[in-house]
Amino acid sequence: MKLLSVGNPKVLKGMDQGYMTYILHLAPANVSGYETCPKRTAGCTLACLNTAGRGGMFRKGESTNVIQEARKRKTRFFFENRAGFLDTLVADIELAIKQCAKTGFIPVFRLNGTSDIAWEKYPVVRGGVMYDNVFLAFPEVQFYDYTKILGRKVSAITNYHLTFSAADGNDTDVVRAIDAGMNVAVVFGVPKSQPLPVAYLNREVFNGDDSDLRFLDPKGVVVGLYAKGKAKKDTSGFVKFPTFLMMAA
Ligand code: SF4
Repeated sequence: MKLLSVGNPKVLKGMDQGYMTYILHLAPANVSGYETCPKRTAGCTLACLNTAGRGGMFRKGESTNVIQEARKRKTRFFFENRAGFLDTLVADIELAIKQCAKTGFIPVFRLNGTSDIAWEKYPVVRGGVMYDNVFLAFPEVQFYDYTKILGRKVSAITNYHLTFSAADGNDTDVVRAIDAGMNVAVVFGVPKSQPLPVAYLNREVFNGDDSDLRFLDPKGVVVGLYAKGKAKKDTSGFVKFPTFLMMAA
């Protein structure tokens, strides 16, 4: 089973900057029967990008498609055959590095495309050597993710960049994440035709939709994202809408 993919339109924007993002999409929340997002909220679960793009295209009368089923299969693989999954992940990353050596792109990796797993906790084997986690096994490449889990033990991992993800009901964690020096991603309910707010939470808002390469973002900013798909109709507080912004900014 192939775990990593390329082709997400936003991720493809990174190619203009010379990067190729390989992304792992698992089934979010408990869609597969296994929980992959321990800190998910009611709002983010409903608005999850899992059903954005081709992942959300269903035939009439159907509630699933080949993309959703593949994500569930990968998730079950992770939970039911951990060693096999991690061996496959290592092989996929090695293959991606080789592909990029031929094409000239810089390979970068996002393992929580639609999940929030603390990958730093899982030892992997590369070339017969065991490493504490996949990041230490591949020090030559950059990894990045969004997370809603505060306090992940990654400060010593120099090739893994995390952006904290604001949602409905995690305001205290957002403040703590900012205090810990993390950038915070916020989804704004602003039409694409209009600019994002200039500032939020007393931080400059940096447009996170221009590329997905979060590890290149300036430090100390709010990463602003336009609401997409189901998020445009969010009423949970996951998406920050302009009327709310006027009071909160
Ligand atoms: S934590 Fe992220 S991946 Fe999980 S349900 Fe929420 S938005 Fe989706």
